[in-house]
Amino acid sequence: MQAVLERLPIEVIRDFTQAIPVDVRALAKKLGIRVSDEDLGPDISGKIERDRENGFSISVNARHSETRRRFTLAHEIAHYVLHRNKIGDGIIDDGLYRSSRGDAIERQANNYAASILMPAPLVGEKWRGGMKTAGDLAREFNVSTAVAGIRIRELRLS
Ligand SMILES: [Zn+2]
Repeated sequence: MQAVLERLPIEVIRDFTQAIPVDVRALAKKLGIRVSDEDLGPDISGKIERDRENGFSISVNARHSETRRRFTLAHEIAHYVLHRNKIGDGIIDDGLYRSSRGDAIERQANNYAASILMPAPLVGEKWRGGMKTAGDLAREFNVSTAVAGIRIRELRLS
């Protein structure tokens, strides 16, 4: 069954990034993407592939922590939004979010994933409200401290 999208992915993402923590699983579902948690072994974070019904499926590594899986899911959603014509027979991301599609593509996906999980306006709001450590922001946005730290630098908050 192919999901019929009434709205553009970017509009759906906008709707889902107005409140935190961003419900990234509900976002995937709304985009018509199936998500499964699977044991992908020690070296894979996640993957996105076309399924039999010509929709898309994302697998995230069930071995990883909740914050890690949230980032992986956002990263794969980024591939869906930005790189759909490059997915081909699937993109498999290793532990460092590298794939055969190359570093530029993966950097884009990481940046987009961070913007889904930590929307700039909401991060700015929290920051101005006094929440100025990666640890505090990480808890608030339900991401890893590493992702929160990267986002703080990206947004030039410190
Ligand atoms: Zn990737």
